[in-house]
Amino acid sequence: KKLRVAVVYGGKSGEHEVSLISAASVMKAMDLEKYEVLPIGITREGEWQVGTTSFPALEESLGAEKLDQLQSQLPAVTNIAKGKQLPALTNEFVDVVFPVLHGTYGEDGTIQGMFEMANVPYVGAGVLASAVAMDKVMAKMVFASAGLPQGGYVYYLRSRFFKQKEAVLDEIEEKLGYPCFVKPANLGSSVGISKANDRSELEKAMELAYLYDRKVLVEEFIPAREIEVAVLGNDDPQASLPGEIISSGDFYDYQAKYIDGKSAMEIPAKLTEEQTKQIREMAIKSYQALDCAGLSRVDFFLRKDNGEILINEINTLPGFTPFSMYPVMWQETGLPYSELVDRLVQLAIERYDEKQ
Ligand code: ATP
Ligand code: MG
Ligand code: MG
Ligand code: MG
Repeated sequence: KKLRVAVVYGGKSGEHEVSLISAASVMKAMDLEKYEVLPIGITREGEWQVGTTSFPALEESLGAEKLDQLQSQLPAVTNIAKGKQLPALTNEFVDVVFPVLHGTYGEDGTIQGMFEMANVPYVGAGVLASAVAMDKVMAKMVFASAGLPQGGYVYYLRSRFFKQKEAVLDEIEEKLGYPCFVKPANLGSSVGISKANDRSELEKAMELAYLYDRKVLVEEFIPAREIEVAVLGNDDPQASLPGEIISSGDFYDYQAKYIDGKSAMEIPAKLTEEQTKQIREMAIKSYQALDCAGLSRVDFFLRKDNGEILINEINTLPGFTPFSMYPVMWQETGLPYSELVDRLVQLAIERYDEKQ
């Protein structure tokens, strides 16, 4: 019997477009002899739709052949889902849900909570790990208690900042100095992140970050190479070979990530054997500290001045296009894209069974 997998994409997030390309790649990699694929899109306005017709960018990257194949099995699948777009995601209708969503309402535990309520297996981390990983302050607190080294930081709620601006700026200058990095606590793709070189830039950077979140953190600037590791698994996770990001800009901002196409990745990263071993171990330790499941991409800094390895953050639903770091790092470690997709579906089922 074929496994029926609902692939969910789009969403009310700044990372909507990336999600469409990731989802097209995932569906393309799924063998229709093994899977019955139920494509489910969420529009920018938050409306759920079965099928791909409202998502031209997705259809374009799927290509005509795969689109035809998907559509020929769609009538059977949508019949079951008819008029029950959300209830269709219960375990009576689908075997597994594969959320290919990034950022708010996709990567932050909210949709994972809905899957839990619907009692359906889903790919990736659970509610708690998703929410903690998405909140950079919470994640840092967990990393610290696991003994993982990281840079210095402070954080302030919006209400406090706007009431006591000068005092807050004084405190940041005293504790961190310049340059420093300002980030909304819950976001991704570098949205709302800036580097501040003086007090007036810091003030502007914080005001910008508060447009995205009521909680903003400021980090000490770390002069470093950026190394990432792909982690895969549930209770016994495995780490890929590390990869390095060579950013086109001053830092790896939205422009460098998605727009100018000039950033490069080097996989495996040029590291000593000892560094490689240490970074892979730290990736697994961070993954387990947050109790992640399925997959995560763990981002590190390798300090250029003293060689120290610091954890930056974990992304529980990282970019999944054929050119994204996560699948490419697995590819280079010996696990091709389509086998990676199969493995993620299996891990979702294993985790669900484990909980029963
Ligand atoms: P992602 O798309 O990986 O989820 P994100 O929005 O969660 O990104 P971060 O990874 O925390 O954001 O930061 C984005 C980029 O900003 C980093 O890849 C790095 O280039 C730069 N950066 C972030 N924090 C620092 C820091 N403390 N010191 C130096 N550079 C930093
Ligand atoms: Mg992130
Ligand atoms: Mg992210
Ligand atoms: Mg990052």
